[in-house]
Amino acid sequence: MKLLKERILQDGKCFEGGILKVDSFINHQMDPRLMKSIGVEFVRRFASTNVNKIMTIEASGIAPAIMTGYLMDLPVVFAKKKSPKTMTNAISTIVHSFTKDRDYEIVISSDYITPADNILFIDDFLAYGNAALGVINLIDQAGANLVGMGFIIEKEFQNGRILLESKGVKIESLAIIECLSHRQIKIKE
Ligand code: 5GP
Repeated sequence: MKLLKERILQDGKCFEGGILKVDSFINHQMDPRLMKSIGVEFVRRFASTNVNKIMTIEASGIAPAIMTGYLMDLPVVFAKKKSPKTMTNAISTIVHSFTKDRDYEIVISSDYITPADNILFIDDFLAYGNAALGVINLIDQAGANLVGMGFIIEKEFQNGRILLESKGVKIESLAIIECLSHRQIKIKE
């Protein structure tokens, strides 16, 4: 997605440990126009699937997920990182975060993902694929079906795609980062 790639090159910043900072337009301050274009692109890429629900993880996945859900006219549900006391029928799993170097729990109510659901998962980043694996675990526990996973940015060198494709998951990423060494962002053409 040309617009996104140009914006990453213009405003993205490289950090130690292969981390890309995009918090001026994606995951702190957000650019709604860019986010709408991201939603349009996800709709185009997943138009041929039988998706009936969008799923994401709080917080950074919510903006692209809600745009995609709005454009597809489908409900959007997000896994939470803290289980509220009021949640009924909670299902949970543990995810390891390489960026934060810690484990955390993700929780969702099986009131909102059911065996009737064909889920499209949307998130901001695909890195090692651990968050996505956690989501697959929740979807399995709920007896729902995963139709695909869409990421705004994939860091190819962290190999999350290989892990997910080995499980038969359809992956679409709107910008693929080949390398972040020497403070240079190299994006796949
Ligand atoms: P994974 O589980 O695939 O290793 O990482 C996915 C999650 O980690 C994403 O949801 C995102 O929140 C965070 N993440 C991974 N890499 C980066 C990065 O380079 N920059 C930012 N801002 N977040 C990242």
